[in-house]
Amino acid sequence: MPKDPVCGMNVDKDKAIKKKIGDRTYYFCSQSCANVYEQPEHELKAMKRRVAITLMGVVAVAGLRVLALFGLVAVLMTTTLIGGLSVYSLALFIVSTPVVWIAGWSIIHGAYNSLRNRAINMDVLISAGVVAGWAYGAANAFMPGLGGEGYLEIAVGILAFVLLGKYIEESIRRRSAASIRKLLELQPTIARILKKGKEVEVPIDEVQENDVLIIKPGEKIPTDGVVLAGYSSVDEKIITGESIPVEKNVGSEVIGATVNKTGLLRIKATKVGEETALAQIVHLVEEAQASSAPVQKFADRVVGKFVPIVFSVAAVSFAYWHIVSGFSAAFFVLLAVLLIACPCALGIATPTAILAGVGKGAEYGILLRSGEYVEKARKLKTVVFDKTGTLTKGEPAVTDIVVYNGYTQKDALKLAAIAEKGSEHPLAEAILKAARQGESKIPDAESFEAIPGHGVRCAYKNKRILLGNRRLMQDEKVPIEQFEEDLNRLEGQGKTVMILAVNSEPAGVVAAMDTPKENAVEAIGKLKSMGLEVAMLTGDNERTAKTIAKQLDIDRVMANVLPWEKVNAIKKLQSEGKTVAMVGDGINDAPALAQADIGIAIGSGTDIAKETGGIVLIKDDLRDVALGVELSMKTMTKINSNLFWAFI
Ligand code: ADP
Ligand code: MG
Repeated sequence: MPKDPVCGMNVDKDKAIKKKIGDRTYYFCSQSCANVYEQPEHELKAMKRRVAITLMGVVAVAGLRVLALFGLVAVLMTTTLIGGLSVYSLALFIVSTPVVWIAGWSIIHGAYNSLRNRAINMDVLISAGVVAGWAYGAANAFMPGLGGEGYLEIAVGILAFVLLGKYIEESIRRRSAASIRKLLELQPTIARILKKGKEVEVPIDEVQENDVLIIKPGEKIPTDGVVLAGYSSVDEKIITGESIPVEKNVGSEVIGATVNKTGLLRIKATKVGEETALAQIVHLVEEAQASSAPVQKFADRVVGKFVPIVFSVAAVSFAYWHIVSGFSAAFFVLLAVLLIACPCALGIATPTAILAGVGKGAEYGILLRSGEYVEKARKLKTVVFDKTGTLTKGEPAVTDIVVYNGYTQKDALKLAAIAEKGSEHPLAEAILKAARQGESKIPDAESFEAIPGHGVRCAYKNKRILLGNRRLMQDEKVPIEQFEEDLNRLEGQGKTVMILAVNSEPAGVVAAMDTPKENAVEAIGKLKSMGLEVAMLTGDNERTAKTIAKQLDIDRVMANVLPWEKVNAIKKLQSEGKTVAMVGDGINDAPALAQADIGIAIGSGTDIAKETGGIVLIKDDLRDVALGVELSMKTMTKINSNLFWAFI
């Protein structure tokens, strides 16, 4: 069943009011909720008006009461008009009626909608109390002697209290939501594009993908792009929360709305309008703030059960006191139960905490994608990191070349480079980089095949070249026993070793080493201090993986995992009864991220839309993993304490 994003009520798809906003359809229980969503400012003003009306009502009835106390209206009280109606009662009736029916209409209408949708919410309780109080007080005014003295005042007072509470809640909510919207206003409105060699200024809306933009020092970058020319440092604080400027040179990604500090940059726009990182962030945060955690469903269920119970208790109390003390006293008890039982805070305990948590995260470039993940973080046991590109920089460099069977190092490297020329693997890049230092041109292979998780195979001038790990050599029946010793030695140093074979004959081994990211040790230490188990997942061999794990102080290693088996590795941990978070780059690791209870996509930069993670980290800083988990846990603690106090 879809949920009304305003009042949070589950609504019937057929009966609901549908509104298509952007590319999504929203369902509302009533026109008034739809109005709130579409024109929030308007609604806040209306709420303010309602509060003002009830407060004036309170002042008026209190004033009448004070006058009565001083005996000043004694004359009026005894002056009766038609029947038993005194001028004093009439004045009360005249003041309270519009307050209840005009200012209170939003709540009465809310109660009506709730009943129509066969759900019982807080509005029902409040309306029942206020309307019954008003009705009984009014009846008493016209027929004194019923004993309904003071009920009109109670109705007005309670309503003022409830409406004021709602208004305060809404303005708090509005303020945190608005702070996210404000981000969009930080985007520059004008961009300078290079058109046929000339610089022209255009409104930001007219910038298109692949346009070339010029950004002077001190200016904001108009949209997401890559640097074509220039060198500068860019302040990305608005997106990532990081106050130290980031160096940018040719090929670097830049994010719209960040500030170009020192140099002149020429960039190519890669994303515009709704596609930009900033727009995506705002969209995501809003969505997450509107989403409800499972704990919210729990709160909703409690309210759903709670209201009927309150009604029953009220009815039983009424019946009892009716017998003992008569109708008037019994009615007072009835109202007391209805109104006092209203745990108005219950409904907002969860959303306000999520709102705050998600908003805070966004300030640091940590996007919590839904309340669901916030809740899962509490049960988190294990954090799994992908090795290459996540724990390490993903930029291995060739460190050793060992040769056999008469090959020279130069030949071996050249053959390896020929084989890797068609591959996009980071290891391939390392080999090509090393080979290009000696060789100006690396010839193309005649045919090429990448074998994921194993290596590469190619044909070149009647040679069949293989480059890859033990698994590949085993599959291709290349004997490798003779250099196990070399392999073990290099792997023991944390290097990834690739074996080169030409026509099924070993020619050498090439070792490459990747360096851990700067903050890896600190980040892992933090997670462990939070009582979490940290594991590493890699396609690399056991020995290399263990060496690196030891450097980083990681407890558990899952090595030799083929790319498509990473999902199973996560499943295996889950089958041990653990709640698992997986940290990966969101592109290669998407399936594993999706399988994990909490997928954490790291270093997304401007590519936020693609991620499948429950938590998206914009910066490429491993410490944000701990920060994100911590933030989720804190938010959850806040939710629980809010719920607790709401119940109390
Ligand atoms: P990771 O989990 O570290 O990203 P992969 O699954 O991509 O690793 O690869 C696992 C292993 O397969 C590598 O450590 C390497 O031994 C071998 N391998 C994969 N692709 C290549 C390649 N293009 N060249 C050489 N070896 C490769
Ligand atoms: Mg990888």
